[in-house]
Amino acid sequence: MIEKMELLDVDKLIEEFESMTKDAGNVQRETLKKILEENGCAEYLQNLGLNGKTDPESFKACVPLVTHNDLQPYIQRIVDGSSSPILTGKPITTISLSSGTTQGKPKFVPFNDELMETTLQIYRTSYAFRTRELPIENGKALQLIYSSKQSKTKGGLIAGTATTNVFRNSQFKNTMKAMQSQCCSPDEVIFGPDFHQSLYCHLLCGLIFRKEIQFISSTFSHSIVHAFRTFEQVWEELCADIREGVLTSRITFPSVRSAMAKLLKPNPELADLIQKKCLGLNNWYGLILELFPNVKYIYGIMTGSMEPYLKKLRHYARDLPLISADYGSSEGWIGANVNPNVPPELATYVVLPNIGYFEFIPLKENVEEAKPVGLTEVKVGEEYEVIITSFAGLYRYRLGDVVKITGFHNLSPELKFICRRNLMLTINIDKNTEKDLQLAVEAASKLNTEEKLEVLDFSSHVDLSTNPGHYVIFWEISGEVRDEVLEECCNCLDRSFVDAGYVSSRKINAIGPLELRVVQRGTFQKILDHYVGLGAALSQFKTPRCVGSTNNEVLQILCNNVVKSYFSTAF
Ligand code: AMP
Repeated sequence: MIEKMELLDVDKLIEEFESMTKDAGNVQRETLKKILEENGCAEYLQNLGLNGKTDPESFKACVPLVTHNDLQPYIQRIVDGSSSPILTGKPITTISLSSGTTQGKPKFVPFNDELMETTLQIYRTSYAFRTRELPIENGKALQLIYSSKQSKTKGGLIAGTATTNVFRNSQFKNTMKAMQSQCCSPDEVIFGPDFHQSLYCHLLCGLIFRKEIQFISSTFSHSIVHAFRTFEQVWEELCADIREGVLTSRITFPSVRSAMAKLLKPNPELADLIQKKCLGLNNWYGLILELFPNVKYIYGIMTGSMEPYLKKLRHYARDLPLISADYGSSEGWIGANVNPNVPPELATYVVLPNIGYFEFIPLKENVEEAKPVGLTEVKVGEEYEVIITSFAGLYRYRLGDVVKITGFHNLSPELKFICRRNLMLTINIDKNTEKDLQLAVEAASKLNTEEKLEVLDFSSHVDLSTNPGHYVIFWEISGEVRDEVLEECCNCLDRSFVDAGYVSSRKINAIGPLELRVVQRGTFQKILDHYVGLGAALSQFKTPRCVGSTNNEVLQILCNNVVKSYFSTAF
């Protein structure tokens, strides 16, 4: 009875969202006012001469557009322990480490209670829309979530990835309960010090509670694919643990072992059943439904750099619905997926007008001169860079993401994520984004399917050490592929970059032949381990799709693991 009373009121949540988006313009003005009133005493805003004004016009006139680099000195002082109001009225006590896959090293951004509340608001909103279409029962979720190490900064602030800060917050668990989405794994597993061990235990917990699992989720869908690829390797060990009721000795952390010991009892019937199911599968097709018969859907961010994992996810999930999770960043949330029936390739996000103040730089115009427009002034079909003003001390902050407006939900825009702006392959007059790269890899890997081979992951680099410079694409593939096939893949990659600047430069050899470098199995796992070593967490990991020369360590991992290389003869 008590549990029932705690459940979220889905209709009410949807109603609130509808009325807020119908009044998006006013809600934006009010939100900006609230942000500026709460933080007006902060040194950063004081110095800009707002003098208590909170209207958008004065705000835009006084406050400059900034990047993370511009705010770095302010953030550093907060990290070092200054307790004066620097970026926010109330002192910041927690710092988030963004994944840093773009620059190669994590960035510090402020985290506070207001950011936590907007996180929960966006979780609740998309949950309401999801549940209306695909109701779940009061069961459990196999949430493939992981914490980073939480450390203390020199100034005594807690620092961890944004997702770690969220998972550790007491409100997270309560909200998950109210959303009937409790993680089936104990906290000791989520916060375990080694993600390999946590992953193994998540899988084990999932199997123990297999009939209760209502959905499978992660922050970014890479973690789901990663988990089931790992399952393929460790399923026999998992079955042995279940059969004997004893955890494998490779789980070494006492806290994790004792938490798991409370759940694990000898269960030979379950072990036999899982073994039979695994042996009966053809290349693991439909694995998820076999293991978890009551799962209703798979949930996690599936757009942008996660799109390349959809094929594998569909392979494991068969016809289960795949629902992309919301759109946000360590810096703040942006939009919720309120159309759960739409396939992830077409997923869009509706901006929540009360979680921040949003502006958009039109990308059609010359970016240096382009004037940002407000949330309700964007035009359908156009692309923009997102600017965030948040409750956590970021004012007119260029997020670096490019989005396209696909329509409006009431008066609030619906966005499609396009790419990171500064992730770009460019040598000459060519410009290819991570999306162009993804499309090229998709086209080329189709040549592979006849051989039943799979591109497990990929990245790229502009090699200027040759004259002329050329694109290098790194592929990790499964199994042995004939040289002729890979040569053809290499040509196909080269031809698939249809950007006029690239094609014309290739024709006159101002850009050299594209090079496909095949790396050995496990190379992308090494890259993941590298980022985790820097303080990232598996939950927020995004494979870097374009690796610049400044990201030397990742480039070295890629280059040191090359087993074969091919040059295009397409031009
Ligand atoms: P992080 O740096 O770990 O905070 O990750 C935030 C970044 O992940 C965003 O700036 C986007 O580039 C990307 N991202 C977050 N949500 C989505 C989404 N729903 N679709 C595509 N990319 C996303």
